[in-house]
Amino acid sequence: MTVTVQPTQTDKQSAEHYVNEVFEAVKKRNPNETEFHQAVKEIFDSLVPVFATHPEYMKNGILERMSEPERMISFRVPWVDDQGKVQVNRGFRAQFNSSIGPYKGGLRFHPSVNASIIKFLGFEQIFKNSLTGQPIGGGKGGSDFDPKGKSDAEVMRFTQSFMTELSNHIGSDIDVPAGDIGVGPREIGYMFGQYKRLHGGYESGILTGKGLEYGGSLGRTEATGYGTVYFMEEMLKDKGQHFKDSTVVVSGSGNVSIYAMEKAAQLGAKVVACSDSNGYVYDKNGINLETIRRLKEVERKRIAEYTVEHPEAEYHEGCTDIWCTPCDIALPCATQNEIDEAAAKILVANEVKAVGEGANMPSTLKAIDVFQSNGVLFGPAKAVNAGGVAVSALEMAQNSMRLSWTFEEVDNKLQEIMKNIYRNSVDAAEKYGHPDNLVMGANIAGFLKVADAMLEQGII
Ligand code: NAP
Repeated sequence: MTVTVQPTQTDKQSAEHYVNEVFEAVKKRNPNETEFHQAVKEIFDSLVPVFATHPEYMKNGILERMSEPERMISFRVPWVDDQGKVQVNRGFRAQFNSSIGPYKGGLRFHPSVNASIIKFLGFEQIFKNSLTGQPIGGGKGGSDFDPKGKSDAEVMRFTQSFMTELSNHIGSDIDVPAGDIGVGPREIGYMFGQYKRLHGGYESGILTGKGLEYGGSLGRTEATGYGTVYFMEEMLKDKGQHFKDSTVVVSGSGNVSIYAMEKAAQLGAKVVACSDSNGYVYDKNGINLETIRRLKEVERKRIAEYTVEHPEAEYHEGCTDIWCTPCDIALPCATQNEIDEAAAKILVANEVKAVGEGANMPSTLKAIDVFQSNGVLFGPAKAVNAGGVAVSALEMAQNSMRLSWTFEEVDNKLQEIMKNIYRNSVDAAEKYGHPDNLVMGANIAGFLKVADAMLEQGII
């Protein structure tokens, strides 16, 4: 049984004062970085009950240190397009926190990428990685390069140029990047090849999400999507509910989305809608995953094409309206802030029972309030989508041991990890006086391990 800690009113006030003061300093030091502020605010607010009972963290400036990346790298990425024109993009790597292991986190290639996006993702990654129970620190990187509409040759030239600089900063015991939006097997392959060429040796452990032929792990492709559904099934089960026979809406049609849809369908749910950045499809018979996978993973086409093969389905222009589709379970798996307050209210009016964040920070803070105040089961990104990085850490372990586990071995470990993340988040939420608030539970559970490691390592 979890014993709840009970801080006094004065302790609570001084904890709130500390959190607000550091948050104001973060905003001042990182002006105009709204996504980063949003991520910091969510974590800071949920840590108030911890500081109220453990003032030692405040005395050691833990939040001041945690919210400043250990290293922030920004670099020029020049490349030549198919017309022979020189193009220049900007590359980033935020090496946020290495107190429990080498920096670990994906690379995102999307035109919206800037320092704020990379810092929000890197900051969240610290807590997510800690929650997995594995020895991995927090980092994130990427570029404002848009792979959409580019030829394979252009993507290769860009990624080789990107890796030429990034290779100076990574290594299997330093920083191990992986994929994220716009970075899949093709991009990881080109980057691995370029790193190998630059370093003149075979170091499997410098990237994860690799192809199975050269050090990748079975189950990594499916891990984030499957893990999302494993976590949510655990949460639903606790309340006597299940995926079976429920109606599910999943945004996006990329890596996380495809495998979340696949696992939800395997558990007996009917997935009726999914999207890309142009619009969404609604198929009352259930989304045909084979079509989506071919369109997105092989042909790299727009989701509107789905209706060519499935004329009974509807295509709607505009991706955010997907949340108007009535469903029991909503899994936002596309991008940040895709569910705002208005969308959350529509989901609630349509009697959604559970929301699980497959993407990173897909719900605004106001949207989260709407879900929580209306009794919707809410699974926060740091916990829900941690299966991807957890299996990346299993890929690192296999690379170190120079062996490969079967799909079943990896999948069983993933299920175990997701159950533990759920349990630890529930326990932390209860202990600190906010039962059922998994935003707080996940943030607190992720925070404590990193904070304790930082205290033991001195003021660094
Ligand atoms: P992905 O394979 O590139 O797919 C992204 C999907 O989201 C695509 O369908 C894309 O549509 C859509 N999308 C992207 N930007 C959008 C925007 N601004 N508005 C609407 N839709 C948008 O990426 P992914 O790996 O699935 O990642 C999806 C989310 O999961 C991200 O938040 C990522 O950080 C998070 N995540 C990923 C992993 C992982 O292992 N991959 C792990 C943890 C968390 P278009 O094709 O039209 O762009």
